Amino acid sequence: MLRRVLLFGSENEFLARRLPRYRFVKRAVRRFMPGEDLEDALRESSALSKTNKGTLLTLLGENVNEESESTEVVQSYLDTLTAVGDRSLDVEISVKLTQLGLDLDEGVAESNLRALVESSGKLDRLVWVDMESSAYIDRTLDLYRAVRADHANVGICLQTYLRRTPEDLETLLPLGAAVRLVKGAYAEPSDIAFPTKRDVDEAFFELACMLIDAPPAVRGAFGTHDVALMRRIQAAGEERGIDRDRLEFQMLYGIGVRDQDRLVADGYRVRVLISYGSAWFPWYMRRLAERPANLMFVLRKMFSA
Ligand SMILES: Cc1cc2nc3c(=O)[nH]c(=O)nc-3n(C[C@H](O)[C@H](O)[C@H](O)COP(=O)(O)OP(=O)(O)OC[C@H]3O[C@@H](n4cnc5c(N)ncnc54)[C@H](O)[C@@H]3O)c2cc1C
Repeated sequence: MLRRVLLFGSENEFLARRLPRYRFVKRAVRRFMPGEDLEDALRESSALSKTNKGTLLTLLGENVNEESESTEVVQSYLDTLTAVGDRSLDVEISVKLTQLGLDLDEGVAESNLRALVESSGKLDRLVWVDMESSAYIDRTLDLYRAVRADHANVGICLQTYLRRTPEDLETLLPLGAAVRLVKGAYAEPSDIAFPTKRDVDEAFFELACMLIDAPPAVRGAFGTHDVALMRRIQAAGEERGIDRDRLEFQMLYGIGVRDQDRLVADGYRVRVLISYGSAWFPWYMRRLAERPANLMFVLRKMFSA
């Protein structure tokens, strides 16, 4: 119930305008992002690389209403890639197609994605395409396939709460796709998404095994903080004699830091997703919805100095 309220709040424009003005909200958000500026994110990427963790950078923001806004987003990512190249950082970018103009025109979103993939390719880095709410899945997959046909350095996120995902993964494996599994962060109806955590977790494990069993050309990544699930995936890798550094776990900045450290110490690959930018409200509400206990953290910040 609380999760649905928070997800509703994530789409509420009045709250999106008002709440970010409060200092206690800004202080609470700091736990999940090092700062609003690219420089903050790059500084943290550099610090994380010293602990053998790679980084994913994502500029916060979703659906754009004008083509010029999507051009600004692309330019911002191109600047990010220039900085990543100049500083030789182990950074990949993770982008939302609605931020690249998917609602305006699929052709615009495609050419924007191609520009980023080409620029990343020159640095030998991958671009990840995030998966958004269910209305966008078919368009996202179509666009991914079109760009993947020309460029190997593009990956896609799949959500394990969706009943359709096993079939989607089956069609992506022969392409040698890079696939990040996540449980899924949007409120979806039960006819298209599993309503229980147990089913979502079980689907995650089965899809993870499909990725582990795929040929080495496929890059699988597991975007989760669920320790029990990570342990099952690690055990599945061990059973099959897979080198640990072929298993990659991706987590959000500020969450599960001890687990990240343990994974690195045990020889697994870890990549931390850092968000930056000023449009953090809907994203932050989704983080709260993932773990309503975080609301206590916000409330403590509200009353602390
Ligand atoms: C790298 C990455 C990329 C992602 N990309 C997408 C995407 O493109 N599309 C999409 O729909 N979703 C995306 N997500 C979000 C994802 O769908 C889940 O909503 C999120 O990861 C929480 O699920 P979980 O697997 O951690 O498991 P859960 O079962 O939700 O959580 C397991 C445990 O992790 C901890 N935890 C989880 N979330 C939080 C939190 N916010 N704060 C504190 N502790 C927490 C808690 O201890 C919890 O008990 C992404 C997540 C990651 C890590």
